[in-house]
Amino acid sequence: MNTTTGSKPHVLILGGGSVGLNAASELRKNLGSDVAITVVDSRPYLTYQPFLPEVGAGSIDPRNVLAPLRKILTGTKVVTGAITDIDSSAKVVGVQTEDGEDLQISYDYLVVGLGSVPRLLPIPGLAENAIGFKWVEEAIAVRDRILANLAEAASTKDPAARKRLLTFTFIGGGFAGGEALAETEDMVRDALRYYPDLHSSDVRFVLVDAAPFIFPEVSEEHRQYALDQLRERGIEVKLETFVNSCENGVVKTSDDDEFASDLIVWNAGVKPNPLLSDAEHSDLPVISERGPMMGKLACLPDLRVKTDDGVLNDVFAAGDCAAVPDLASGEDKMCPPNAQHAVRQAKRLADNIARSIQGRPLVDYYHKNLGTMATLGMYKGMGYVMLGDKRIEFKGLPAWAAARAYHLYAMPTFGRKAAVLTDWIGNMISRRDIIGIPQSTNPRGAFELAAGPKKK
Ligand SMILES: Cc1cc2nc3c(=O)[nH]c(=O)nc-3n(C[C@H](O)[C@H](O)[C@H](O)COP(=O)(O)OP(=O)(O)OC[C@H]3O[C@@H](n4cnc5c(N)ncnc54)[C@H](O)[C@@H]3O)c2cc1C
Repeated sequence: MNTTTGSKPHVLILGGGSVGLNAASELRKNLGSDVAITVVDSRPYLTYQPFLPEVGAGSIDPRNVLAPLRKILTGTKVVTGAITDIDSSAKVVGVQTEDGEDLQISYDYLVVGLGSVPRLLPIPGLAENAIGFKWVEEAIAVRDRILANLAEAASTKDPAARKRLLTFTFIGGGFAGGEALAETEDMVRDALRYYPDLHSSDVRFVLVDAAPFIFPEVSEEHRQYALDQLRERGIEVKLETFVNSCENGVVKTSDDDEFASDLIVWNAGVKPNPLLSDAEHSDLPVISERGPMMGKLACLPDLRVKTDDGVLNDVFAAGDCAAVPDLASGEDKMCPPNAQHAVRQAKRLADNIARSIQGRPLVDYYHKNLGTMATLGMYKGMGYVMLGDKRIEFKGLPAWAAARAYHLYAMPTFGRKAAVLTDWIGNMISRRDIIGIPQSTNPRGAFELAAGPKKK
């Protein structure tokens, strides 16, 4: 099937995440009905990833961190399918829908907002036994597994099984990993009040990081604060330590420790979407030099994609898959991969496409860092905000409140903001839920059991 759109310029947006959703909304705002827009994503919703640690901790209902693309982007064509090929020389993108149909979608302007994927290392047993923490289903699975394990451990008499069930390992202590660990441990301490058979010393949370510190994004003082916070809560933080293997759920670390762990969460960094560096399926030019930019699309400050000897005038990129100069931070600096930049780059990029269509000069992306905040569980947090050139550091309750307030503001749609706020108020009144339903990934299990053994 070949999908094209009449005489209006057609903007095709790859990815419906922070970049895709905001670029589509802004284009519609700028150009009204004078442009045809198509957004392609394998998921029919945006995932607001900064809230995933709170989903993992049972503080927010999973659906409330998802923004449905079709409901928000009225008048925009939304295609749910996997992007398989990008041919910028023919201006065509291949998409495969869930039912296996292949679409060829042509465009006048292309926006690439395909984000990132976890950066895995060749550690034996990692792919088979660990789970990531980037998508809502992973955050749900982590919460369900931890809560179900508490119930199982409280009922078993086998000390080795109990130990394994109550050992939770997080690998990677950056923002995403550190917050996920701190929030879920907080949930466990809260839930333990309903488990008279379990003591907090029965539960082992382990954070492993190869770096000499956690939360590299904040000041040294705050890194130390976060480390002290976690250690005071009994969390084992292994710094300058590598995971050597996770075979059969047994974690072996470079400090000669070895322990069985029923949950291993991998959060040790991300890399740009690998489709872009797959030369068989994409002809877009990616950065090939080793380093943090490897695999990204190199962009000019106006967000057009650069080639070795020029620029692709009709291809724009932003977010985690793009190397965008950070003009506000000085020469040679690139924007870090975060939602703060992704959203603002998307808006600049949409305005530049409108300018390009109208024959006006493009404008460079310039955004001064607003700061960064992390929550470490209920009423705990740390980070800083920038007020002009002044950096104001917070920790404890004010930082936790500021982080929640900022993300509530940034969460797309009024309905979702209201739903998140309702979740928080509900939890304060009646405490967090302690039910884990790992069986939800196999909902037909009980029905098949009722049907009895299969006849041969
Ligand atoms: C746990 C966690 C916590 C975070 N916390 C913060 C925070 O506190 N503050 C902050 O600023 N940032 C935070 N981030 C980072 C932030 O969420 C990302 O930087 C941001 O979402 C990047 O936006 P993007 O549009 O580039 O990618 P995404 O939002 O990831 O969107 C990419 C989209 O592309 C789609 N896609 C990918 N491949 C294909 C394909 N082949 N076919 C079809 N669709 C495809 C995906 O489904 C996805 O919807 C966090 C991230 C995580 C994982």
